[in-house]
Amino acid sequence: MLGLMQNQPLLISSLIEFAQRHHGDVEVVSRRVEGDIHRYTWADVSRRSHQVANALKGFGLDMGDRVATLAWNGYRHLELYFGVSGSGRVLHTVNPRLHPDQIAWILNHAQDKVMCFDMTFLPLIQAVHAKCPSVKHWIALCDADKLPADSGIPGLLSYEAWMSSQSTDFEWPDFDENSASSMCYTSGTTGNPKAVLYSHRSTILHAYAAALPDVMCLSARDSILPVVPMFHVNAWGLPYSAAMVGAKMVFPGPALDGKSIYELMENERVTFAAGVPTIWQMLLGHIQPDGLRFSTLKRTVIGGSACPPAMITAFNDIYGVEVLHAWGMTEMSPLGTLCTLKNKHLTLSKEEQMKIRLKQGRCIFGVDMKIVGDNGEELPHDGKTYGDLYVRGPWVVDDYYKPEGSNPLVKDARGRGWFPTGDVATIDADGYMQITDRSKDVIKSGGEWISSIDIENIAMAHPAIAMAACIGMKHPKWDERPIVAVVKKPGAEVSREELLAFYEGKTAKWQIPDDVVFVPAIPLGATGKMLKTKLRETLADYQLPGL
Ligand code: ADP
Repeated sequence: MLGLMQNQPLLISSLIEFAQRHHGDVEVVSRRVEGDIHRYTWADVSRRSHQVANALKGFGLDMGDRVATLAWNGYRHLELYFGVSGSGRVLHTVNPRLHPDQIAWILNHAQDKVMCFDMTFLPLIQAVHAKCPSVKHWIALCDADKLPADSGIPGLLSYEAWMSSQSTDFEWPDFDENSASSMCYTSGTTGNPKAVLYSHRSTILHAYAAALPDVMCLSARDSILPVVPMFHVNAWGLPYSAAMVGAKMVFPGPALDGKSIYELMENERVTFAAGVPTIWQMLLGHIQPDGLRFSTLKRTVIGGSACPPAMITAFNDIYGVEVLHAWGMTEMSPLGTLCTLKNKHLTLSKEEQMKIRLKQGRCIFGVDMKIVGDNGEELPHDGKTYGDLYVRGPWVVDDYYKPEGSNPLVKDARGRGWFPTGDVATIDADGYMQITDRSKDVIKSGGEWISSIDIENIAMAHPAIAMAACIGMKHPKWDERPIVAVVKKPGAEVSREELLAFYEGKTAKWQIPDDVVFVPAIPLGATGKMLKTKLRETLADYQLPGL
């Protein structure tokens, strides 16, 4: 027997309709590429996303056609989020930090028809446009008078000239909620990037989940600053969740330095911010020396890489800002787990609480996870046993768009598909998951695993260390031994011996790295993660001491 409730499809257009109707006067504030601050409201976002939809109709685009963006976090990008997906086209957010050849490869793979880009990326577009024949329309996200006369890009239009003359009347179409809404390519550290194609349904369910109290706890009383880019897994879904709850939105544009972010937080009374650890490192680097404080910031989600303990302590203990350590992936829309304490943890000592806060957190309703051993057997949730982390759920990838290999899912005995995340983790009895490593980065020494994240966290807790990367080096007796490559803070000094001594008592003796290598910088990939493969290349001639 079927239920007798209305079968209304879950569509992204319903979010902007809701925000316009119920929170139309709430502000959306953006720092623009031009450097000034732009402010308007959710009602304006709605009106202008109607104009985008009409302008796309004018191009004769079909449902499902891809519209690409190469853009910072800002109001025009937000209008495209709703105008493109809401009208049934697919928003393809491209990561400008990828190599130009990879960007050209991605645009061809996605067969994008339109490309909308911030003027910052004009040189990038000039380098790739001739290699991307599927793109018929190039649109610069700027005012008409900012368009260069001699860009070399045929038919280049300014966004404002293109869309602002369109009618503001538009009826969002109804269609199947499983239709594709947006796409994002993985960063491609292991071969060609892979395309993850989100649906309207997966996006709306993820937006609901993200707003829950034990997740990001978003509400109409929040002023949300997504520092995480809109070109990286839809800024962790924040534009959608913000529209769903009617929160104020604050966009940083291209200015991601500590000073600019701090000013925006203070001026726009930001209560909630989200970003990767490197961004927050820059922010702390700006406020700590001058003794500045946050007057409104209450919570910050930190994810994308492991959050160092020193950062959690600084935010929680010095500034009274709750750190929500989060884990996810492009293939998971991206949220998988978030670390919030349970009631029974509230009476624990600070040290005991810290042990929990360092974990990547517990599953959000909608994501199921397990750890498995080498033969696919399910491993116990005892907080000690490591295994490959598998996930499933309605916002987890089922397959890649135009896959180059076989389907990534692994079937269980009931025939259900699980996505192998490529992470190695433990899960404890309370359901808290802790990532030890990417499976390709795991260090095996004498048959035991050493967590490179643990080794990095200890180094990062040293006052002289800005960044640390731990990698395994071949060893004739132990198979592999860890070494740690570190970047010193400007003006700070520490010797190899002092840093090795710092490890004493903080980890088992056999897990202490065999060596410290001082490097000027750790190579980072397009999504801000350490590129250990590149680091290994730079250390090709390295020899472990005593060998
Ligand atoms: P995103 O960086 O948006 O989470 P990516 O798909 O680029 O998504 O990268 C996903 C990978 O990043 C995960 O599989 C994991 O290895 C790593 N990662 C994400 N969050 C964390 C975290 N909090 N701690 C450790 N690793 C993380």
